[in-house]
Amino acid sequence: MNGTLYIVATPIGNLGDISYRAVETLATVERIYAEDTRNSIRLLQHYSINKPLHALHDHNEERKINEIALLLAEGKDLALISDAGTPLISDPGYKLVRELASQGANIAPIPGASAAIAALSIAGLATDKFTFEGFLSAKKQARLQQLKALKKQSHTQIYYESSHRIVACVDAMIEVMGGERQVVLARELTKLYEQVFRGSLRELADWLQADSNHQKGEFVLILAGFAGDNSPTAALDNEQLLTILLEDLPVKQAATLAAKLSGMSKNEAYKRALQIGRQL
Ligand code: SAM
Repeated sequence: MNGTLYIVATPIGNLGDISYRAVETLATVERIYAEDTRNSIRLLQHYSINKPLHALHDHNEERKINEIALLLAEGKDLALISDAGTPLISDPGYKLVRELASQGANIAPIPGASAAIAALSIAGLATDKFTFEGFLSAKKQARLQQLKALKKQSHTQIYYESSHRIVACVDAMIEVMGGERQVVLARELTKLYEQVFRGSLRELADWLQADSNHQKGEFVLILAGFAGDNSPTAALDNEQLLTILLEDLPVKQAATLAAKLSGMSKNEAYKRALQIGRQL
């Protein structure tokens, strides 16, 4: 295959936020695959780019793979764009890229905006280690389970959310992480009503309720990592710790070790160890 499939990042709002190279590439490729052609036409018109636009979305992605592979084999350069930001990031294209890569196709990125990184860059939360969590489940129980698994992660977490679920998402975070966890909510970045909220999850819930406009638009939520004690023994309460130690140690030794690990006084640990020891 001689052609190249360019994965081109487009703006997340302001149409000016696209690289010079991206515009040049879109103007020179044979055809452009877009998630929603009606949406992308605005961008192309803005830059006077007149290229055939073809839809590639979740529902036809697999069917399009052969067509794209054939065009690349004919030596044609192509571009993939999504509605906003970087394709494949919570957007279609992963199956296409995986399959073409396995066939040895040329695939090249034209980097640019992504809402996650734009929001992180202004969050003022730790950036040395972070995870991109994308959208939480639309189902309440599944959402709570996902959050429980993330509760004790010490790194910054990036979530995408829509206007329909932003309130439910913040409520679920309060339920699992507690209301004091620090958060930054980036709303409508680079658009007319861009807004950034910084505070605790509880304060964010109040802010969302204070004005229904605060719940409108597109959101990136950046959650500070867990700041508490993450050692394995911290997850155990004193009772559990003593019970485990008493399985292998005599009462006095178990109590001394438990006091060291948990911060209990030696006396308290000894008394409780005796009680537990009697029940074992
Ligand atoms: N591929 C895109 C990217 O690179 O950011 C993300 C696509 S995903 C389907 C759309 C989600 O991205 C929105 O629901 C929202 O969470 C986030 N998003 C996109 N544009 C945004 C903006 N201007 N401000 C805040 N969040 C945005």
